[in-house]
Amino acid sequence: MNDALDRHQNPVKAGPDAPQVAKCPACGGIVELRGRRVGRNPDQKTWYYRHRRGEGPRCPRRPTRW
Ligand SMILES: [Zn+2]
Repeated sequence: MNDALDRHQNPVKAGPDAPQVAKCPACGGIVELRGRRVGRNPDQKTWYYRHRRGEGPRCPRRPTRW
């Protein structure tokens, strides 16, 4: 997912300056910030939040293939 909630319940967008750990707006589970390199340039990344292992097993925001 691209957005989550920080510890003050404010919406945050996944990005280089986003908090490492946030909360899923759908299930309240812990999500962690991940950056995936997309090109040859190490600074070129796509950022997203991903559920921590065991969090939100039935969350609608959890992609089916992970
Ligand atoms: Zn969730």
